[in-house]
Amino acid sequence: MTDIKTDVLIVGTGPAGSSTAALLSSYGIDNVLINNYSWLAGTPRAHITNQRTMEVLRDLGKEVEAEAYLHATEQDLMGENIFCTSLAGEELGRMKSWGKHPNSRAEHLLSSPSFMNDLPQTFMEPLLYKTACSRGTQSRMSTQYLSHIEDEDGVLSTCLDKLSNKEIKIRSKYLVGADGGNSKVAENIDLPFEGKMGVGGSMNILFKADLSKYVAHRPSVLYWVLQPGADIGGIGMGLVRMIRPWNEWLIVWGYDINQPAPKVDKDFATKVARDLVGDPELEIDLLSVSTWTVNNMYAKKMSKGRVFCAGDATHRHPPSNGLGSNTSIQDGFNLAWKLAYVIKDKAGAELLDTYSIERSPIAKQIVTRANQSIAEFGPIFEALGLTDTQDPVKMKKNMDERKQNSPKAEKQRQALREAIAFKKYEFDAHGVEMNHRYKSNSVLTEGDKEPEFKKDKELFYQPTTYPGARIPHAWVYDKTGVKHSLLDLCGKGNFSIFTGIGGEEWLKAAKNTETQLGIKIQCNIIGPDQDFEDHAGEWSSIREISDSGLILVRPDQHICWRSKDMISNSSEKLMDVMKKILHKR
Ligand SMILES: Cc1cc2nc3c(=O)[nH]c(=O)nc-3n(C[C@H](O)[C@H](O)[C@H](O)COP(=O)(O)OP(=O)(O)OC[C@H]3O[C@@H](n4cnc5c(N)ncnc54)[C@H](O)[C@@H]3O)c2cc1C
Repeated sequence: MTDIKTDVLIVGTGPAGSSTAALLSSYGIDNVLINNYSWLAGTPRAHITNQRTMEVLRDLGKEVEAEAYLHATEQDLMGENIFCTSLAGEELGRMKSWGKHPNSRAEHLLSSPSFMNDLPQTFMEPLLYKTACSRGTQSRMSTQYLSHIEDEDGVLSTCLDKLSNKEIKIRSKYLVGADGGNSKVAENIDLPFEGKMGVGGSMNILFKADLSKYVAHRPSVLYWVLQPGADIGGIGMGLVRMIRPWNEWLIVWGYDINQPAPKVDKDFATKVARDLVGDPELEIDLLSVSTWTVNNMYAKKMSKGRVFCAGDATHRHPPSNGLGSNTSIQDGFNLAWKLAYVIKDKAGAELLDTYSIERSPIAKQIVTRANQSIAEFGPIFEALGLTDTQDPVKMKKNMDERKQNSPKAEKQRQALREAIAFKKYEFDAHGVEMNHRYKSNSVLTEGDKEPEFKKDKELFYQPTTYPGARIPHAWVYDKTGVKHSLLDLCGKGNFSIFTGIGGEEWLKAAKNTETQLGIKIQCNIIGPDQDFEDHAGEWSSIREISDSGLILVRPDQHICWRSKDMISNSSEKLMDVMKKILHKR
């Protein structure tokens, strides 16, 4: 017996589930969103929100993006990444992070209309969830997914209504498992994983205390504390993380994963807070404590049949680099339009296979990067002479040696500076966040040569219109002089084209494709006296095509085909390309 019917059942209201629901509802797809618990995230786990994620929120609507900024700590207050012996103690060094360095800020400004910010999960989730529900998502809290069976036409899921303690059956065309790091959905479809869970032990201590006097003059979201035990478990060092400037904090401290998790009571939490802040009298208003494990595992495949997994269900890793929630939301952006097109019969079901093909390499990349970032704290410990002792007296002595006037001490100072600067791979890795290039049969490169990265691809974003890449950002101007990012001229559930003077035939080709396939294609022509003008030459400097060429962009803002110039059979060609991309016969 079926109690509820919907097109898509989404399990989990975290960043992956709520973003997928919000996007599906924006695309007019019926969906039901369930959550095991009675409400959304109770602790501010994710916070670093990168530009690509903000672009997804912007695609949901500028009002959604604006509300995120309203609750977020702005980029200017994020980046004096401090390494110290305690907040009150000695500062060992700092690394300007998250776009704080002027060079990095310029790269950020050139790359996107959106800004990186610090938005705790306790604000991000309600925003996505509210957007979903206000646009049509039907949501049920206290509803636990238990199992499902799949047949030719859909999926029948069995869930437990925790209020009545009764089982309910939900029939959907597709099932999305966005149910986090212990995903039952991923387990039930037996997704193949690589890596290991539980490689380190960690604890969160969330508290309120006004720490302005230690931090306001060097604003940062992360203060790394080097004390005895700081290299055991955890995420590389002791961490005092800003939740709200400067009176709400989260301490992340490690424990030995080979021992049972410690009992973190008020006394224990207060002691850790006093040690890391460096104030033996500090009084904290303890909000919550929890223990968790550092994982190093990713799914080699993210879907099976009519079931798709997204977010931590498929990539399980430490918070290093701040990629978890970001990647989860971006998974949703890749998946939602594909589900919408297939459900509306605008695309063949094979389009859905490209979700796993495009996103699983990213799962592997971010899990590997986040775990590597923990290991890259090692050279800091080495430079300070701390690798072979936990004795506080010896530690202090070794660290103080760098203050001597001697060639050895000068070398030590140099090694410490280099080790701290190297942490840009964790705290300022703009390329990791922005360089995603999809490869699948819904991206047609037709022998086009992929541009090589000119700089380190983890650190620097490189704009390109090579098919598979996200459309680069450039400002263009409408007839009233108002500026628009190219990202604002595409997406929102539709395909888009960009061309220039001499490319008028592409507009006719697009109209023909629209009529024949029953889809909408947003047409943008950029040039003097056209809809949009490239006054500052930003677009022409990065578009890699001639004025009459064409860039075809998918609803997730990734380029799926380009033609460097006008061609003679433009209508047939565009039609053929679109059919291939949509797997439409
Ligand atoms: C200390 C810390 C700091 C972090 N910092 C960052 C950061 O700066 N930036 C970043 O991007 N990420 C960060 N992360 C990671 C981020 O929190 C996760 O990657 C993110 O929450 C994953 O989102 P998700 O939607 O996949 O899963 P989750 O947020 O875990 O959500 C899973 C959802 O599924 C529900 N659920 C589970 N099982 C069932 C079931 N059987 N039935 C029904 N519902 C179910 C849960 O109730 C929940 O709603 C951090 C994590 C930690 C621990």
